[in-house]
Amino acid sequence: NRQIILASRPTGLPCPENFRMIESSVPVPGEGEVLIRHTHLGLAPAARLQMGEAASYRAPMKIGDVIYGQALGTVLKSRNPLYREGDVVMIQDGGWQEYSISDGHAVTKVESDIAPLTVWLGALGTSGMTAYVGLLDFGLPQMGETVVVSAASGAVGSMVGQIARIKGCRVVGIAGGQEKMTHLRRDFGYDAAVDYKDAAFDEALREACSAGIDVYFDNVGGHVRDVAWPLMNRNGRIVVCGQISEYNDSPASGPGWFDILARRLSVRGFILSDHANRRPDFLRDMGAWYREGRIAIREEVQEGLDLAVPAFIAMLQGKNSGKAIIKL
Ligand code: NDP
Repeated sequence: NRQIILASRPTGLPCPENFRMIESSVPVPGEGEVLIRHTHLGLAPAARLQMGEAASYRAPMKIGDVIYGQALGTVLKSRNPLYREGDVVMIQDGGWQEYSISDGHAVTKVESDIAPLTVWLGALGTSGMTAYVGLLDFGLPQMGETVVVSAASGAVGSMVGQIARIKGCRVVGIAGGQEKMTHLRRDFGYDAAVDYKDAAFDEALREACSAGIDVYFDNVGGHVRDVAWPLMNRNGRIVVCGQISEYNDSPASGPGWFDILARRLSVRGFILSDHANRRPDFLRDMGAWYREGRIAIREEVQEGLDLAVPAFIAMLQGKNSGKAIIKL
């Protein structure tokens, strides 16, 4: 069983010395387990994260661990009643190796008559489902809206762009290099394609999004995100799916947008004046809590109109504690 293991933790971009190929015996399945011969590995940027020491949303690999990753394969031996020899399966965590053992958990059968095998690692696999769930459940795209996707020609991004088109959105893809611009427009049907490696990227994105951005599906973070951010329309949605531009940082830079991803935080703005209908509920609940002594209050009261400006500036510098008030 040839395996690729983590030989050392990368600093910045991984280099070949960070990996080592080793050979071990083919494992033997125990009771309830299956032995799978891998036919395909799905490479995912997230593996780079787990090569670092920093905790992300998954435990870091240890030195000597087989590199994490999805695999497609065939069941060679089964001691699990749910799988038969010859079944084609997708193994969520097969790893970069020729064979793996599984207890059936995180293994799904693949219907190879529906689509070619490799499609089960992409469009019909985790990449496609990430796009589907991220866009539809969190991006909430509406017909006619502008959806912007970064890493737009990648496994996830290309699905996002196409699902958004199906939903009747105008779709702008961001990727690196002229060749990918052609893929975006010609292969995936993006309405506009913008090259973030071009010196004129900021301006080009603004032009491509003349009606602003309603949904930004963020796969990359960093500068691309920072340029997209001010173009967001009111009530826009930002879906933080990946932050690949930070994955080579060691340790992953943070706290920052990566935490939004790792901790599954939501990014959503609101302006109170849009929610006036909540006032009766607010007064009822807050009034009750206050009367019950459950609300602690701090105030910084200063006297004299002439203190308004310095108090205001101090407040912006965080020098106040509690509500800043000027008594006249
Ligand atoms: P891709 O197929 O999109 O490959 C990665 C792409 O990222 C590269 O092709 C490259 O395209 C782009 N890229 C690499 N470095 C940078 C950089 N510094 N700045 C901007 N773009 C960069 O991979 P996936 O589709 O598998 O993954 C895309 C994203 O989705 C990743 O961030 C990944 O972690 C995330 N993901 C999240 C999941 C979740 O559950 N939240 C599940 C699966 C994936 P380009 O030419 O455009 O630079």
